[in-house]
Amino acid sequence: MPEFDYDLFVIGAGSGGVRCARMSAAAGARVAIAEERYLGGTCVNVGCVPKKLFVYAAHYHEDFADAAGFGWDVGISRLDWARLRDNKTREITRLNGVYRNLLEGRGVRILEGRARLLDAHTVEVLGERHTARHILIATGAWPFVPEFPGREHVVTSNEMFDLETLPRRAVVVGGGYIAVEFAGILNGLGVRTTLAYRGSQLLRYFDGDLGRALALEMPQKGVCLRLESEIVRIEKLSDGSLELHFVDGGIEQTDLVLYATGRRPCTGHIGLEECGVRLSDTGAIEVDAHYQSSVPSIHAIGDVIGGPELTPLALAQGMALCSTLFQELPKTVSLENIPTAVFSQPSIGTVGLSEETARERGARVQIYKSGFRAMKNTLSGNPERTLMKLVVDADTDRVLGVHMIGPDAGEIVQGLAVALQAGATKAVFDATLGIHPTAAEEFVTMREPVS
Ligand code: NDP
Repeated sequence: MPEFDYDLFVIGAGSGGVRCARMSAAAGARVAIAEERYLGGTCVNVGCVPKKLFVYAAHYHEDFADAAGFGWDVGISRLDWARLRDNKTREITRLNGVYRNLLEGRGVRILEGRARLLDAHTVEVLGERHTARHILIATGAWPFVPEFPGREHVVTSNEMFDLETLPRRAVVVGGGYIAVEFAGILNGLGVRTTLAYRGSQLLRYFDGDLGRALALEMPQKGVCLRLESEIVRIEKLSDGSLELHFVDGGIEQTDLVLYATGRRPCTGHIGLEECGVRLSDTGAIEVDAHYQSSVPSIHAIGDVIGGPELTPLALAQGMALCSTLFQELPKTVSLENIPTAVFSQPSIGTVGLSEETARERGARVQIYKSGFRAMKNTLSGNPERTLMKLVVDADTDRVLGVHMIGPDAGEIVQGLAVALQAGATKAVFDATLGIHPTAAEEFVTMREPVS
């Protein structure tokens, strides 16, 4: 009889948990996974995937207008929100099935219920106890809404994907990924949208040029920007609309308020502290370089350990942990050069150091920049501008950062992330021929540093 029921028990079937479960099963481990909500986690159900579908939907608005300059009369367009929402839900349901098949196909046992740790090797799900040599906590994170009067009237990104009806007006609060993405979606879908952010610069943890450029583009597309504005209370009026009171005395009425003010690790009420698992001040599980917690048999990956909350990172951590536990090859995932995209409108792609961070780290930097109207926008008349930027170490010639705002930024920067990972120098970029005519070729034709 084996000592434990399983070699690995995973709590949370999101991106990281599922990847680790099925890779470990493929490596010969006996694996179970518990999930109380939906297979695929935030990314598949209320995050990356449905968000990207909505971004496509929202962009048609602009595409219809752009078509006129190319000779197309598109006619009157009208959004059927229920059709978009329900088609999205069908696709997500299909993906839930794909996740189930991926797990079951590898022999992973799926337990649909809330799991609770009883000790370092025991988990309880739906009243049944399971023992495991290793336990993986991959419970992700949950939207955070600050305390203020009227907080109960707001929604988070979780609710945005299944709204009964699309509001006529909306206010999005925050200046990070979710806020700028949803402001673009709502605006594109025809909702009169305000973005209210407490700071002066959107996406402040990225290269400053990106946030500044986005703040110029969003109002041109119709989003009303309220920077340096904080909401002190929200009141519900008798007609059902919401009245927002700002700290500067400003008032705005709207129909929906979306708070996109960060996310917090899901570490409550699953028995972590009772088992001696150490948490950080933000509630994240503290782990070492190999995702081991303060309790040696308990591991954690993904959003629940804090750090960049990004699906590809959770996937990589899941694979690294599998390698460490079941393939006798301890691995970790570097947090340097993580490429990322923001599906704002226009979109942003970025990898490596911002100009600000490179300077803070003491690098002597050379900056290359190119700002232009993409070719498509000549005939369309769309005023949207693209910005591309390279941050180069003047001493080593290494490209430290690649930043872009403009159409397909994520698609373009993904390829350049490989170059950065390979340690490409500016000379390598210069020796690379462009693909003409593209916007991307601009990244290999910038010759004169601007500073
Ligand atoms: P972010 O951390 O990106 O942004 C949070 C925003 O909320 C910041 O602008 C912050 O302001 C503001 N904020 C925080 N606390 C308060 C408060 N008490 N009152 C008012 N404003 C506040 O979080 P998101 O919620 O946008 O997204 C969560 C994470 O999910 C992201 O960090 C990202 O890792 C991931 N994600 C990734 C996506 C992608 O890959 N495309 C898409 C969506 C999410 P300040 O800057 O002043 O602190």
